[in-house]
Amino acid sequence: SSYLGMLGGGQLGRMFVHEAQALGYKVLVLEPEADCPAGQAADQHIQAAYDDPAALAKMATLCASITTEFENVPASSLAWLAQTRFVAPSAACVSIAQNRVEEKRFFSRCAAETGIFPAPHAVIASVADLDAIGEDLFPGILKTARMGYDGKGQVRVKTLDELHEAYANMDGVLCVLEKMLPLAYEISVLVARGADGEAVVYPIAENVHREGVLFTTTVPSPHVSPEAASQAQQAALKLIADIDYVGVLCIEFFVLQDGTLTVNEMAPRPHNSGHYTMDACMSSQFAQQVRAMTGLPLGDVRQHSPCVMLNILGDVWFDGETLRSPAWDQVLALPSAHLHLYGKAEPRPGRKMGHITFVASSMEQAQADLRSACQLLGISLRAEK
Ligand code: ATP
Ligand code: MG
Ligand code: MG
Repeated sequence: SSYLGMLGGGQLGRMFVHEAQALGYKVLVLEPEADCPAGQAADQHIQAAYDDPAALAKMATLCASITTEFENVPASSLAWLAQTRFVAPSAACVSIAQNRVEEKRFFSRCAAETGIFPAPHAVIASVADLDAIGEDLFPGILKTARMGYDGKGQVRVKTLDELHEAYANMDGVLCVLEKMLPLAYEISVLVARGADGEAVVYPIAENVHREGVLFTTTVPSPHVSPEAASQAQQAALKLIADIDYVGVLCIEFFVLQDGTLTVNEMAPRPHNSGHYTMDACMSSQFAQQVRAMTGLPLGDVRQHSPCVMLNILGDVWFDGETLRSPAWDQVLALPSAHLHLYGKAEPRPGRKMGHITFVASSMEQAQADLRSACQLLGISLRAEK
């Protein structure tokens, strides 16, 4: 059992593989897709479903320790592997993060300690639950409890009638209706915890989304107050300890217009908003995941330089009808730019193809280089709405 095991084959898995290899580990990836970002980088790729018994058995034979890069892997696979191998994060922790109802219950239960509540919400298990919903939750957002990401599986509703209509299109799946809150901006907090209970928390990252997808992450956050930053970081440390979580966890918070913090959701893995740690911190979120799952001491979370991260979506390749080659050479001529491409063969609009971090001695310089790169790549920086 000389491998580290990874369920999932996407870009998060690929960056994990690179960091694990740098620390001297071999990595085995379980992923049904053939030519996937993590599979290309891994020492071994088992191409099978995440719940394939033979594949899981092979994983248990070959791997000392197993993790996941995708929150929707079957928790039962993690539980099965955990009978004989160290699995981090645990099936129980991943199960909470897979289900918004469980997630909100967890956040609410800890709110007495963290001081941070989830948005007011109602659980909708069947159409009968709709009429019990109070006026105070409108306007609201109907979200599927499971499988939603990048704003998919969400409908904004202004009235009970609109909610009925939106829920009718949800095929009867478990949902939550959340009150629409007046957001000032969004932040995320990355925490990591070892099996011994040691935990570390990274600086606050401020996130801007476009069409439901993360667009930029800026660290340090230009807006967060020191008090709110510390409250969110302390909350993250309490949450991760409460469920005895091992590994990297990312928690998203909303800062409301009156300054109040609300906790939105969590991802049981390294996160897109944590990519800045690869180039701007002493230890990256992926190295931290390797350390946590292998019992090594956690790395230094200190950020050494201001950073802005820009996601590169497939759109950058599309110029009207024709595919073009993005001007990476010109982008890389910018002194602060670090380009990370994920090895995905086909650019498609909206598909995450890579990211660039701009790491400079000042935030002004990082932002100036971000603007230059956006101009070179044909990305509009103008805020939407
Ligand atoms: P992710 O890709 O981050 O996993 P997701 O599909 O799980 O996204 P959320 O993060 O819950 O969805 O919501 C997507 C976006 O919708 C948020 O980033 C925020 O901008 C907005 N949003 C979600 N919930 C609320 C709310 N209660 N009030 C106001 N805006 C909200
Ligand atoms: Mg989500
Ligand atoms: Mg989110």
